[in-house]
Amino acid sequence: MSFHLFKSSEKLTIPSNKEELLKKPYTKFDPEFVYVPLSRNGKSLKEIRSVGDYVARGTLLALDDDKFPIYSSVSGYIKEKKEMEFANGHMQAFVIQNDHKQTFELREPLGKVSEVSKEEIYKAIKYSGCIGFGGAGFPTYKKYQKPAQYLIINAVECEPYLACDYLMGISHISLVFAAIPYLLKLTGAQKVFFVAKEDRELLIEEAINESKKHRNYCVEVVKVPDAYPMGYERSIVSYVLHKTYDKFPIEVGAIVNNIYTYMMLGERFLYGTVPVTRCLTVAGLVKKPQSVLAPAWTLASDLIKFCGGRSTKKPTIVVDGGPMTGHAHRQDFVTCLQSNGVLVFRDVHERAEPCWHCGDCCSHCPMDLQPVQIQMALKRKDIDRLIALNADKCINCGLCSYVCPAHIDVSNNVQIAKALVIKAKRGEKK
Ligand code: SF4
Ligand code: SF4
Repeated sequence: MSFHLFKSSEKLTIPSNKEELLKKPYTKFDPEFVYVPLSRNGKSLKEIRSVGDYVARGTLLALDDDKFPIYSSVSGYIKEKKEMEFANGHMQAFVIQNDHKQTFELREPLGKVSEVSKEEIYKAIKYSGCIGFGGAGFPTYKKYQKPAQYLIINAVECEPYLACDYLMGISHISLVFAAIPYLLKLTGAQKVFFVAKEDRELLIEEAINESKKHRNYCVEVVKVPDAYPMGYERSIVSYVLHKTYDKFPIEVGAIVNNIYTYMMLGERFLYGTVPVTRCLTVAGLVKKPQSVLAPAWTLASDLIKFCGGRSTKKPTIVVDGGPMTGHAHRQDFVTCLQSNGVLVFRDVHERAEPCWHCGDCCSHCPMDLQPVQIQMALKRKDIDRLIALNADKCINCGLCSYVCPAHIDVSNNVQIAKALVIKAKRGEKK
């Protein structure tokens, strides 16, 4: 499968809208309630705790079939179990009333790198419940099941508005670097790349200074252009290693993790905490746009209220994540562990026109797909054609929708096609 970073010869400038957000230090928010989901990928979890139990931050609440855990993100009582709307769908949740005491339940810290085994490091990652904080929410331990040559720390954060990873990075760079020696030991990798946008000077400086304190392993700080979709795994691997792959970076010896994931692993290894907080950027039409560190599974409306509320009385939508790849909601929702943004925008229905057949979506697609053809095959429900058009290779970067002059939500249509192809390839009903 080919991949072309910045495929179009036409320079595509996407306004970042984050200059002010990058200058504001993140704040902390401790909501009254959190809503911990009790299913994953459509399957119910095995509940370990019940309504009425007192839990601390980090208490085990439920497990999936693979014993991958979910922990409480606050201390307090489990008040009830109810159906909630999450950023990624409808599911049952434990409603936990926060007592604001911030009582922690800690695991055993790992101790010196020289004294821990690979198995202990792997188990610490798996049973911390750590997921990829870059947006996909993929369980982190699954990336560490094979040896690797390169570890890549992704601090690019290329979506407009989002500034949370940058702000956490400049405040907690030592935690990011604390995770590195353990991950090097686990994977056998020899080289680490810390990748950030060229204009994030303070973060780059922090990373260079920190790398000088750790001369026993080699970290190269790589500056990448301010362009979209530079923060995607494929873009980074292509830019840093000059390699492409079919499904996963490990095919070319690389493991890529978001900077926040590194931070959470650093905390787990050093202090025994589990990752149940997330810094999100709350921006758009809110009175006090800022990045907020909050317990996981906080309501989007509580975060918006904390940021002064909406700055418009006109109808709005709330996007979970960035504007290019996030999902728009018209009703309130619970943010996910991996959510990195809550963005309020005007609810403007730009009426889509019939396709102009201009080909812009094809010429900008970094995966060399033909979104316009995929849409046509989707309309005909022609699964064989969708397979032939590689619809499942879409990386959901949103560029096709962004460039479409007819205001068609092309990427959404490609996502529907992608889901159909994945199902068909698994042998499920078409
Ligand atoms: S979202 Fe559109 S542009 Fe991006 S990879 Fe998918 S089809 Fe291509
Ligand atoms: S960019 Fe929009 S109008 Fe142009 S071919 Fe693609 S879907 Fe059609």
